[in-house]
Amino acid sequence: MKKKFIYIIAIVVIAVIALVLIVVINKKEPVVKEKVVEVVEEIPMKYNIPLEGWTIYTDTVRKGDFLGTIMNRYGITAQQVDQISKMSSDTFNVTLINLGRPFTVFSDTIIDSIPQAKIFVYENSSVRYTKYDFTNPDTILIEKLEKQIDTVELEAAGVIEFSLLQTMLDNDYSWELALAMSQTFAWTVDFYALQPGDWFKVMYTELYVEDKRIGIGDIQAGVFYQGGKELWAVPFTEDSVQSFFDTVGNSMRKTFLLAPLEYTNISSRYSHARMHPIFHKVTEHLAVDFSAPMVTPVYAASDGTIVTRTYGEGAGYYVAIRHNSVYTTVYMHFSRFGQYNVGDRVNQGDIIGYVGSTGWSTGPHLHYEVHENGQKIDPLAFEPPPADPVDSINLPRFHEEKRYWIDKVNAIELKK
Ligand SMILES: [Zn+2]
Repeated sequence: MKKKFIYIIAIVVIAVIALVLIVVINKKEPVVKEKVVEVVEEIPMKYNIPLEGWTIYTDTVRKGDFLGTIMNRYGITAQQVDQISKMSSDTFNVTLINLGRPFTVFSDTIIDSIPQAKIFVYENSSVRYTKYDFTNPDTILIEKLEKQIDTVELEAAGVIEFSLLQTMLDNDYSWELALAMSQTFAWTVDFYALQPGDWFKVMYTELYVEDKRIGIGDIQAGVFYQGGKELWAVPFTEDSVQSFFDTVGNSMRKTFLLAPLEYTNISSRYSHARMHPIFHKVTEHLAVDFSAPMVTPVYAASDGTIVTRTYGEGAGYYVAIRHNSVYTTVYMHFSRFGQYNVGDRVNQGDIIGYVGSTGWSTGPHLHYEVHENGQKIDPLAFEPPPADPVDSINLPRFHEEKRYWIDKVNAIELKK
C-alpha cells in the first residue's frame, strides 16, 4: 500500500517536471521584426524627361488633325512644321500620325494664352514614340524612340477536360499563349489528338510598358503530357541561337526523309505547268513522282498521325500523314497499304504502303506531296527547320542548365 503511494507520487512528480520542461522549451523569445524602410528618391518622368519645371498637356489625335495643325495649337510655326517635313524620308517619316493616338506637349511658357511647346511627343504605338525637341531655336531635334519594355515571368498549367481551348478559357489564359504553346510544341504534341487527362505546364513571359500589358513574350520552357509521355521543351543556347530540346538534348523538331522510298528515277517534278501523261493537256503537278518497282515499300517521311487512308479515283490507294499543324505529306497510287490505320501514330521510316499504279497512273510510281500550311510546296526544295541535337561538346552544359528549367516547370502546380 505504501509502495503504491510512492509510485503515484513519483509519477506525479515526473509528470510535473515534464510539463514544466515542455512549457520552457516552447516558450520562445518574442520575434522583433525590424522594419526596413527603403527611401528611393524617384524622379517623376515621362518619356525619360524629368517632369519638373514643365506644364504637361496631353491629348489624342482627332479627326481632321495633321501634325502641323496640332503643333500650331502649341505655338509651333508653319516654318518649323515645314522644316520637320523636310527632315522626313521614306524610312524616317515623322509627319504621319494616326487618329486616336496620344500626344504630349512639354511647355514652360504661355504666349497669348497659347502654351508654347518645347518638346512634343507623339506615340506611334504603345511602345514606339517620336520626340520633337524645340528647346534649341536653331535646330529641331527629332528622335524615334522606344519605351522600356518590362518582362514579367509567368506560369500556366492545365488539365485537358474537353479541349485545349476550353482549358485555356477556363483558366483565363490568353489565346496568344495558346498560339505560342502550339508553335513551341508543334513538332512533338499532336494538338488534334489531345485527350481528357492530358496536361501541360509552361513558363512564359508577358511584356509590359508603363504597367500596361502589351502582349506575350516567349514560352521559356514547358512540358506537355500526351499519350502517357512527357514531351519536354527545354531551352538551350548554342552559338548564340536558342532552341528547344527534350530532356536528353534531342531537338524538338523532326527531320523529314529527302525521299520516302528507294526510287529508280524521278519521272515528274514539281511544276505549275506540265503535260499530263494521261489527259495530254497542260496541268499543274504540285508533287514529285518517284518511279520505283511495284511493291517497293514507302516510308513515313517523318513522325506524324495517319489522317487519310482511302481510295480516290485519281489518287488510287493513298495515305496522308499530318506531322504537325504546319506540315502534311500525301502518298498516292499504292498497290496496297501498310499496317497503319487512320488515327495511328507513325514514326519516320514506318512502312505506310507499297508502290503501285492505282488511280490515274501510267506505271508504278509514288506521287508525293508536301503541304505547308495547306499549300503544296516542292518536296525536293523543301527545307524543314533544322533538327540537330545539342552538340556533344555542349552536352555537359546542357545537362547542367536543364535542371533549372525542369525543376521550375515541375514545381508548377497542376490544379485538377
Ligand atoms: Zn504525280
